[in-house]
Amino acid sequence: MSEKRAADAIIVGGGVHGAAAAYSLASAGVSVILFEREYLSSGGSGRSAAGLRQHFGTEVNCRLAKYNLQCFPTLQEDLGGEFDLEFAQWGYLWVAYTEGSMDQLKKNVELQRGLEIPSEILSPQEIKRRWPYLGVERMIGAAYCSRDGHINPHTLTMAYGRAAEKLGARIKTYSPVQRLLSSGGKIRGVEAAGEEWSAPRVLLTAGPWSTKLAATVGVCLPVTPERHNLLVTEAVEPFNCPMTLCLDDGAYFKQLPNGTFFFGRDDPDEPKTAESGNSAKFLEGVTKSVLQRIPVLKGTRVAHQWSGPYDVTPDHQAVIDWTPVEGLWVNCGWSGHGLQFGPSGGRLAKEMFFGEKTFVDIHSFRLGRFEEGDLFMEPAFI
Ligand SMILES: Cc1cc2nc3c(=O)[nH]c(=O)nc-3n(C[C@H](O)[C@H](O)[C@H](O)COP(=O)(O)OP(=O)(O)OC[C@H]3O[C@@H](n4cnc5c(N)ncnc54)[C@H](O)[C@@H]3O)c2cc1C
Repeated sequence: MSEKRAADAIIVGGGVHGAAAAYSLASAGVSVILFEREYLSSGGSGRSAAGLRQHFGTEVNCRLAKYNLQCFPTLQEDLGGEFDLEFAQWGYLWVAYTEGSMDQLKKNVELQRGLEIPSEILSPQEIKRRWPYLGVERMIGAAYCSRDGHINPHTLTMAYGRAAEKLGARIKTYSPVQRLLSSGGKIRGVEAAGEEWSAPRVLLTAGPWSTKLAATVGVCLPVTPERHNLLVTEAVEPFNCPMTLCLDDGAYFKQLPNGTFFFGRDDPDEPKTAESGNSAKFLEGVTKSVLQRIPVLKGTRVAHQWSGPYDVTPDHQAVIDWTPVEGLWVNCGWSGHGLQFGPSGGRLAKEMFFGEKTFVDIHSFRLGRFEEGDLFMEPAFI
């Protein structure tokens, strides 16, 4: 019998947001088909630094981040227990070397504490006392939240996908969507592998690739790709190390459960592309920044390096909204912090599908803000 090429909802893109949406919609009895051009988590999700945090500088992100953190402790079991999500709370430490960055961190912490997020400001002396192996030379201070931490991006995305399948969702990997299909201003489905698949609702969660796909039905998304690099070292002794980030030079590092370290660094000169590739310049820049903050790692060998795309908007905030094409909605543009918002993204997808009031007011994520010039910058962005 040939497969029915129709569903209540089609999702395009199998990163964490597409997979979480498939799970959430399927849980609510919606028939779902998800198309992923390669394998689940093959885009930005699987190339991320696996960090989760509540340290944001805008209220909507803090509120959604709080919800994510309510979900993560039981998520592995909630999704069937088949995948090890490696959820851990080692904390996030944002260090500052300039008064401007320190002022921003203080503002962020004030906002967070007003929302009952247990962040604090630490002096360099206090940092040295808690983590003696960290270098604090020239550091002015830091913001710290002990509840923030780590989640494995691959198993997180796979777990959502598998749980969605168990609820009846059809997950089609290695199935690129060529274009979206609309008639009379309404979405009617997608074209994939030369065949038409129909649905009255289509959710676009294709990260930086969303822009080209949206354009096939005349929707303009101000979402552009940016390449970002990460390296992983050989395994070393456990350091009980918080994810340590710096707004001043965009560098960060963390230790993983297997003892290896991730080093990452924002470099404005990296190509604006969604395609992966390697940059030798990154290796030099990131090691210089990171080793001044954790000098004990000098001499540790680099095991490998990779890159992945951020899907960037002009204010570094997501776009979650219905588009002018009836039935087509988008969730993309998460820039460098979208992995951890999988649980929120999934819940919002279901609420939007059913026309419910969303659990957090996401008006500020609307698509129209770019034309209206109503941008709202996320200051805690690397
Ligand atoms: C180096 C790096 C470090 C990061 N660190 C963090 C971090 O520590 N914490 C954090 O929260 N976030 C982090 N991020 C950001 C995070 O990875 C992204 O914001 C998030 O994963 C986006 O998820 P997504 O599901 O929206 O998109 P993606 O994961 O990019 O998924 C989009 C999917 O769409 C698929 N697709 C594309 N075109 C088509 C098509 N035509 N048909 C079908 N499928 C298609 C792609 O293959 C891809 O799998 C980082 C990103 C990078 C690159």
